[in-house]
Parts: sequence; C-alpha cells; structure tokens
Amino acid sequence: MNRSLPATVAVRPSLRALGVATALSAAGFAVVVYLLTPWHPLGAGAPPVRPDVHTSFTPGQIARAADFRGRLGPWPYVGLVLHVLVPWVALWLAGRRAGRDGAATRWRWPTVVATVVVIALVQWVVTAPTAIHEQQVLRDFGISRQGWAGWARDQAVSWVMSTGVAVVGVLVLFWLVRRVPRRWPFAAAVAAAVLTVLGSAAYPVLVEPAFNTFRPLPRGPLTTAIQELAHRDGLGPINVVVADASRRTTGENAHVSGLGATRRVVIDDTVLHRAGQRQGEVLAIVAHELGHVEDHDVARGTAIGAAGALTGVLALGLLLSTRRGRRWFVPTSRRPAAVARTCALVLAIAATAPYVVAPLSMAVSRKIEATADVRALQATHDVPAFVQMQRDLAVTNLSDLTPAWWQTWWFASHPSPPWRIAQAHSWQQLQR
Ligand SMILES: [Zn+2]
Repeated sequence: MNRSLPATVAVRPSLRALGVATALSAAGFAVVVYLLTPWHPLGAGAPPVRPDVHTSFTPGQIARAADFRGRLGPWPYVGLVLHVLVPWVALWLAGRRAGRDGAATRWRWPTVVATVVVIALVQWVVTAPTAIHEQQVLRDFGISRQGWAGWARDQAVSWVMSTGVAVVGVLVLFWLVRRVPRRWPFAAAVAAAVLTVLGSAAYPVLVEPAFNTFRPLPRGPLTTAIQELAHRDGLGPINVVVADASRRTTGENAHVSGLGATRRVVIDDTVLHRAGQRQGEVLAIVAHELGHVEDHDVARGTAIGAAGALTGVLALGLLLSTRRGRRWFVPTSRRPAAVARTCALVLAIAATAPYVVAPLSMAVSRKIEATADVRALQATHDVPAFVQMQRDLAVTNLSDLTPAWWQTWWFASHPSPPWRIAQAHSWQQLQR
C-alpha cells in the first residue's frame, strides 16, 4: 500500500459531517423516489395484471423471438461483465505496484488522461468480439441494416463521447480534491447532481445529432391528429420530429427527450413507414410519448437521477475518505502508479454503480412506462390499436417476450410486451 502519503492528504473531509450528509441525502433520495414514482399505473386497488404470452402472440412469433435470443446467447451479458471487470483488473494491477510507486512525476494531468483513455481502450477491445457477434445476429435477423463501416463509425463516436465524459469527470474530481480538500465530496456531489440536469437538457442537442438527423414531422393527417391529441391532453403545441433511424435499423421506436426548451417527441421514420395503413397504431405510440410529456417524465427521471447522483457521490466520498479508502484514493499524489490506481478505482466504481442501482432504477422506469401506456389508453380509448401496436413493435423489434426475472430486474426499462397488452385489457375492464 502507499506508505508515503503526501502531506496534503492529511487535510481530509470530516467523516462525521460526511456521514450525516450522506444519511440525510439518502433519506431525501428515498422520499424523492417514493413521491415521484407512479406506483399504481391503473390506480390503487386495481386487480393485478396477468400477462399471458400465448394469448398475446402466435407460436411462430414466440419461437422466432426465442430463436433470436438463442442466437444472441449469453454474449451481450459477457460483454457487459468484461466492461465492468476491466477497471477492477486495472486497479488490481496498479495495486500490486503500491509501495513501489516510483518517483514523483511532473506529468500528473497527462497521467490521469492517459490512464482513463487506456482503460477505456482496453474495455472497447475486450468487448469488441461480443459487440461484433451481437451486430452479426442483428444483421442476420434483419433488424440491423447497417454495414460494418457505419457500425464501426457509431462505435467510435460513442467511445469518444463516453471516454471524453470520463476524462473530464476524473479531471474535475482530481481538481476538486486539490482545491477543496476538506469539502470535495460535497462539491463533487453537487456537481454530479447539476451535471445530471444539464446532461438531460443538453442530450437532444449534444448527443442525439451525433447519431441521427432529425426533421420536423411533415404536415398531413398524422400531424393534425397528433396536435389534436396533445390539445386533448391539455398540452400546448408539441415539437414532434422524425429521426432517420431507418438507415441503421428496421426496429421501430419513439421517445421523448430534453427539458424545457429542448423538449421534443422523437418518432423513428421506421414507425412512419406504415403510418398510412395503421394510423391508429402510430397514434397509440405518440399518445404514449405524450403521456410522458403530460406527466413530465423526463423531468421526473432527471430529478430522481440528480438526487441519486448526489447521494451516490456523497457515499463514495465517505468511503474514499476512510483510512482504508485513502490508501487507494490519492488524487494529490504525484507518483504515476498512485495516480493510475486512483483513476482505476474511480472508473471501476463508476462502471459498477449503474448495475448496483439497476433493480431500483429499472423498477421505477417500468412504473413510469406502464403509466405512459395508461395515459395513451385514456387519450385514445383505442384498446385494439394499442394492443396491435404492442404486438407489432414486439415482433418487429424481436423483443424478449418471456424475460427471466433477473433480466427484468437488471435490464428491463419497459414492462414486457405481454405485460403491456395484459395491462391494456385490465384498463379496458376497469372502464366498464
Ligand atoms: Zn415510454
């Protein structure tokens, strides 16, 4: 371990103050989650939703979805585990050098950048085979229409973006520890919460255009019907744009992104391809998205995320400020191995945290999605179109029709298609 701690590390946050702040923030987070989650989409006291894949889908559709899952195999999950493991292995390797940290370097900031970039590169390299396999299966099943060059370009763009965010995040953290050694966990926690809000608002402006081009929804009967729906929901004019998803996929999707001035409903052009014959289904999709707008779900999710980031960073600050934590977390050190160890530790925790909180964040997300479904039904009163839309989306996107409990817990941001269909039938029964 690092036996030669620099003198500045002695100036550390008060563990008592941090403990109290973490406990208060955790309590606040629990209240925010409790108050902002729509726990009962059909209303309290509604009978439980009973999904039945066999009444919702044909044996052929069930078999094809299972075939697709079978072809994907465990590899997407293997890739994910490898991605999380890489920084932990880097930490272990750097930890073995502890005590032999070498001479102080004048190149501390470049060492930070280099460490983060190398770890991110290794993550990309070790997960590339699983990503290539997944892309191959998506192509075989006709979901991906993308050539390998386009796919590689997408991979590179998201790698540059996520690595850039990681580099800036780690640099800011190191800088804060030097600037405010006693209060850095508080400063970092507030920064994380503020960045969550800014990131959510800037997402449609900074991230989405890197992957798709967007155009306004062309005028026509669909536009009129959508604005009518929005008017009925008591919403003002809604910014609806179309994404050129079809150059990448045959999959159909829509979503809401942004906050305030950047808020918009995005419909994939793949959804519009068949709008002529099935306007009711397209309207059901849009009504679901308008439900998100009506309930301010992006703001709701962002508030939960910001409260979670605040609590998470405070808890992390507490952990890293303990005697044991300070052996590994030494951002004030000038020794390259200690700097690398600190970077690896931060990246390892950052890579793992989303999966630690996933059972909670996914459960909240599924409640929000189920509520948007109910909003869609309340707006359109068209259960057959809604059910047909769920069926078509599940079949086109080859959604998992029978996810295992752990897949639902850790990965399902939306309820399964059979569940959503069953909830629509429950809603219909409750109207009688
Ligand atoms: Zn949704």
